[in-house]
Amino acid sequence: MFADRARLAALLDDEARLFSELHPESERLWRAAYPHLAEGVPMLWMLKWPGGWPIHVASASGAHITDVDGIDYVDLCLGDTGAMSGHAMPASVAALTAQLGRGSTFMLPTADAATASRLLAERFGVPRWQFTLSATDANRHVLRYARAVTGRPKVLVIDHCYHGTVDEAYATLDADGAVVPRRGNIGPPVPLDATTVVVPFNDVPALERALRTIEVAAVLIEPALTNIGIVLPDDGWHDALRDLCDETGTLLVIDETHTLCAGPGGMTARDGLRPDAVVVGKTIAGGVPAGAWGMSTAFADLVHTFLDPEGEGMEDIDVGGVGGTLAANALSMAGIAATLGEVLTPEVFPGMIDRATEWTSGVQGVLDEFRMPWQVTQLGCRGEYSFRPTAPHDGREAAEADDFELQQFLHLFALNRGVLMTPFHNMALMSPATTSADVDRHTTMFRDAVVALVG
Ligand code: PMP
Repeated sequence: MFADRARLAALLDDEARLFSELHPESERLWRAAYPHLAEGVPMLWMLKWPGGWPIHVASASGAHITDVDGIDYVDLCLGDTGAMSGHAMPASVAALTAQLGRGSTFMLPTADAATASRLLAERFGVPRWQFTLSATDANRHVLRYARAVTGRPKVLVIDHCYHGTVDEAYATLDADGAVVPRRGNIGPPVPLDATTVVVPFNDVPALERALRTIEVAAVLIEPALTNIGIVLPDDGWHDALRDLCDETGTLLVIDETHTLCAGPGGMTARDGLRPDAVVVGKTIAGGVPAGAWGMSTAFADLVHTFLDPEGEGMEDIDVGGVGGTLAANALSMAGIAATLGEVLTPEVFPGMIDRATEWTSGVQGVLDEFRMPWQVTQLGCRGEYSFRPTAPHDGREAAEADDFELQQFLHLFALNRGVLMTPFHNMALMSPATTSADVDRHTTMFRDAVVALVG
């Protein structure tokens, strides 16, 4: 917790004033839209951006956004990974535009389905893929299949995880270790302990106790936590997880939606993990909605047998709870084929990761110079700092370092100086188009912010 709260409040006021001076056109658009939008925004979480109203985007290209007041930003948020492949990258735009001209949704496959699934299979090492409109949906669907084929009722997730708006995953542990709804959970359909088991990240004994009950269909896990700050796995954590899943017949679902930042096949490929299913989404279609999950042959065969036990055809396949009218539409598939094939290629990852190394050492340099008791962690082309002296070991430690006002100040200070940070946390992401000069803009700004704080 930053000690000088009065100073922080005064700095925040100054930045709020500067924000309103700089963004009159965004304010005008926001006020004009207000009567017909809940709270003036098309999705309520947009209220998390600092400032009196969200900046409104005029256009974006590569790693930059221009707002309606004509201000250029280095975009380190990149749509919270939705635009990690870069904004409006030419190969994605060309493929998407061409597909739009040929029609976009048919309830039928196009040739891109084979390319998209092959690229994903090659990268993540699981062979059988299905497509959705979001990573949330991919998670939901794979959990249904997991419960169906194991006949077990529960899902195991990690304390302070995030996997999209998946009901089972909106659980956390209270101070006594009971499973309860996470803070802010809106209208849970059933008590969370009916559906979910929660264990802390990196806690092998807790994991073992939970899986040995044999009531867990699947573990749904990010290979490193990324949504409560970055929490890296201990040596041996993933081996223990795989072994315990094997021993207890539990399916292991690895959600690579964010950890795709670690390399072309996420941490699964980088670290040789062996999941039964992999989930991805967000950036894979170059900016249009798409999600996907891939299954091992063994898991896919179990699903097939469940759906068609007598080999008589899948009469109920459209009403089983896995689907979506526009899922796997031709536009999504064209986006995935082009974005993975030509934009977010294995060749661009080393450069993206180098930019993140520059960003991380820039932040570390400032923390060292001013002896700030904060830490910064890098995971592939993603970096994140948190307000604690050492890297967190689990989600609770990461959550306890939260300081909402301090974060608002740093994000607003950044925004007022042409740098966009992810509103939900202190995360910076590098695209193939991000340059060292872009990173330098952040480092200079971050140093100025810390100078303002320490006086
Ligand atoms: N999985 C992870 C790890 C995520 O971080 C998120 C979103 N932040 C999702 C899934 C859900 O993605 P979407 O909101 O695009 O469905």
